[in-house]
Amino acid sequence: MRGFYGEFGGQFVAETLIPCLDELVESFKKLKKDKKFKDKLDYFLKNYAGRPTPVYFCENLSKKYNMKIYFKREDLLHTGAHKINNTLGQALLTKFIGKKRVIAETGAGQHGVATATASALLGLDCTIYMGEIDAKRQKVNVDKMKLLGAEIKIVKTGTKVLKDAVSEALRDWVSTYDYTHYVIGSVVGPYPFPEIVAYFQSVIGKEAKKFFYRIGEFPDYIIACIGGGSNAIGIFKAFLNDNIKLIGVEAGGINENHHAMSISKGKKGIFQGSLSYVLQDENFQIKEVHSISAGLDYPGVGPEHAYLKNTNRVKYVSATDEDALFGFYETCKLEGIIPALESSHAIGYVLKNKEEFRNKIVLINLSGRGDKDLEIISQECGVGSMKW
Ligand SMILES: *Cc1c(COP(=O)(O)O)cnc(C)c1O
Repeated sequence: MRGFYGEFGGQFVAETLIPCLDELVESFKKLKKDKKFKDKLDYFLKNYAGRPTPVYFCENLSKKYNMKIYFKREDLLHTGAHKINNTLGQALLTKFIGKKRVIAETGAGQHGVATATASALLGLDCTIYMGEIDAKRQKVNVDKMKLLGAEIKIVKTGTKVLKDAVSEALRDWVSTYDYTHYVIGSVVGPYPFPEIVAYFQSVIGKEAKKFFYRIGEFPDYIIACIGGGSNAIGIFKAFLNDNIKLIGVEAGGINENHHAMSISKGKKGIFQGSLSYVLQDENFQIKEVHSISAGLDYPGVGPEHAYLKNTNRVKYVSATDEDALFGFYETCKLEGIIPALESSHAIGYVLKNKEEFRNKIVLINLSGRGDKDLEIISQECGVGSMKW
């Protein structure tokens, strides 16, 4: 069946959207072969976003933890994370298919900011849906989006968070798709979105692979944090057929009841237009999720990850808030890099399980920088305080 990864994925949307998704499948197929499109995207990725990003050998962490740790430095990109790879790609796609407007949903605001950024660059009208509670929590990002010229639609229905913003964005799209593209922010949503986002993020793994060819050794492990799963798919994709262990780290949160472990603890269900693992209660309602990092607070996960789990190609584990904070502080202190709390889950998992990785070569995707997280860090522990 088209658009499925094993049994996962599909197009579970209003019937009226199917022709629009069909059209998107066709235009994306064409654009992937369009030299003008690819050249333009490469141009922006290089000169605007700052690609390629380095693969950096973390000498100090490596020495202390008895392994070779490399970081793929997506934190060095414009707007501070990998999300810009996808929003630039989709904004450019919007231009090329002749649409004038984009919409997006955002939880923490990071995808909203990245979408508003690419829209400003390419002169597109931009509307961002955001839950009222999220908008209050993430005022700085709301201000950034406004500065970048986006219209913010505050969602006051339901529980007023991400999942409600998703519903509103889909509703908008149903009535505006002839001039609007929906910029989905991770490898989620109805087909072909998981494929489109994976394509735009796969630049991460391609660059990393080039680097390891050049130095003549390859990692034993590649590790990335999982929200919806786009930075992970982005770095995994180039290595799926290689003899390298791939590990996705979900947000273990505080405890059994407060986490965002959609793959490990979710049940099969439909969310944001596709079938995957979803955190839901006994009445199949989407559960509230918790993580110290706003970017991992997503109740579902991309269908390709569900498939990679069931085929055992990728191992999915979790790191708690505390593990992530540990990884965060160690990276600040030893490497002079302030990592995003999302990426800190991947780092924390490795450092906490150092025996598993002893004398191994480990590549961690540093999906973003942590400047945005200082407020929450100071609330949790006081900046600079070391609990360990
Ligand atoms: C949004 C975000 C994530 C989580 O999204 P994925 O689609 O799972 O990559 C991870 N890291 C950072 C820095 C983010 O901003």
